[in-house]
Amino acid sequence: MEPVEHKNSAAKVGFVSLGCPKALVDSERILTKLRSEGYEISPEYAGADVVVVNTCGFIDSAKEESFGAIQEAMVENGKVIVTGCLGVDEGAVREITPDVLAVTGPQQYEQVVAEVHKAAPQPHDPYTHLVPEAGLKLTPRHYSYVKISEGCNHRCKFCIIPSLRGDLVSRPIRAVLREAEKLVEAGTQELLIISQDTSAYGLDRKHAAEDWKGEQIRAHMTDLAAALGDMGVWVRLHYVYPYPHVDDVIPLMAEGKILPYLDIPFQHASPKVLKAMKRPANDAKVLERLKKWREICPEIVIRSTFVVGFPGETEEDFQYLLNWLGEAQLDRVGCFKYEAVEGAAANELPNPVPEDVKQDRWNRFMETSQRISAAKLQKRVGMEMAVIIDEISEEGAIGRTYADAPEIDGKVYLEGAQELAPGDMVMAYILEASEYDLYGHMVADEDPDDDGVDDDWDW
Ligand code: SF4
Repeated sequence: MEPVEHKNSAAKVGFVSLGCPKALVDSERILTKLRSEGYEISPEYAGADVVVVNTCGFIDSAKEESFGAIQEAMVENGKVIVTGCLGVDEGAVREITPDVLAVTGPQQYEQVVAEVHKAAPQPHDPYTHLVPEAGLKLTPRHYSYVKISEGCNHRCKFCIIPSLRGDLVSRPIRAVLREAEKLVEAGTQELLIISQDTSAYGLDRKHAAEDWKGEQIRAHMTDLAAALGDMGVWVRLHYVYPYPHVDDVIPLMAEGKILPYLDIPFQHASPKVLKAMKRPANDAKVLERLKKWREICPEIVIRSTFVVGFPGETEEDFQYLLNWLGEAQLDRVGCFKYEAVEGAAANELPNPVPEDVKQDRWNRFMETSQRISAAKLQKRVGMEMAVIIDEISEEGAIGRTYADAPEIDGKVYLEGAQELAPGDMVMAYILEASEYDLYGHMVADEDPDDDGVDDDWDW
């Protein structure tokens, strides 16, 4: 392939980002680097000098979507660089699309950028400094994912992340805090902390402390949460495993420093299945812990994901899970039917669960979790809650309360309120609730000059 010459205009890079929030953060880093070098980012394949496809290779359906995107980019453009999780298996990519320009794995930002340089030489751009200091974001301006580590030290049997991304490598605490601070300066109202295992943050660094604004802060989830809590925006913790030290962040929630929201991917409740899955922290007395957390911080919302139909899961195991769910009363719950992932150790396990049984268990799980969710949301009716606005539709504004993470949880629909803008924080009166969403209106203030936007919000 001949490099494309660009004498007068900036080279254009088409970009497709697939996969989880972690992949999104990778995409943001690549885009930030390219923009800082003067490249233009094109929303379309046609007219782009090269297309980067950031893929997801976790489960078969994600792989199919990724292969589909690569093929589409090849047809529409023909100059394609593949990166992300699927890039770990270059042979598989080249078998289907042999003519892609390059294949790189996850987190290989420099290689992706180097390949872009080759395909569309770096233009001379005197405006580098115009790139926002916080980088270029694919999420709306008012919320941002902050990835605090890569990889994972666990070896859950259904998961291939450690073989794709390696063991845990935590970012230095100063780097994380600096990034968060820049995002807040650039307008972020909500920081979403992500990693494969947030509670393990800093373990590989032996929780080494660094100076941050005159204080020694350890590379540790508790210190990180406390320091982020001082930034004056919503801070939401994702992918937290219930290690004992998680107890230490609950008081921060009760004090209002970080959102009283914990995303804990329990995956199952039956000790036998958890052991077969080789899940971390599976011996914790979770129900007792939940009770204690709720005593300390009654507003706390727990989100989780589960897998039904893992090899060897019996009806008794499943019933255990359903009963557990009834007792745990989790607020937000997602459920997947177990799907074999190429390369996962679970594939070797005996007693696969038939598809129709998986489906039946999934249906029963969802019925139970829906009932819990609906009853919990009913209790919000009549309350006034802080809502962050995500979008404006024809009917009104759509936002979220502290209990809802973007893209995965429920929404709050506010009648009218079209004068609002994404990122506004308002107080809303909740009129109605469905299984997953809330409906209400903005709280009118007695002050006629008040625009309804809450400048001094809380939840
Ligand atoms: S904790 Fe388990 S599921 Fe999560 S990334 Fe690590 S190995 Fe995978």
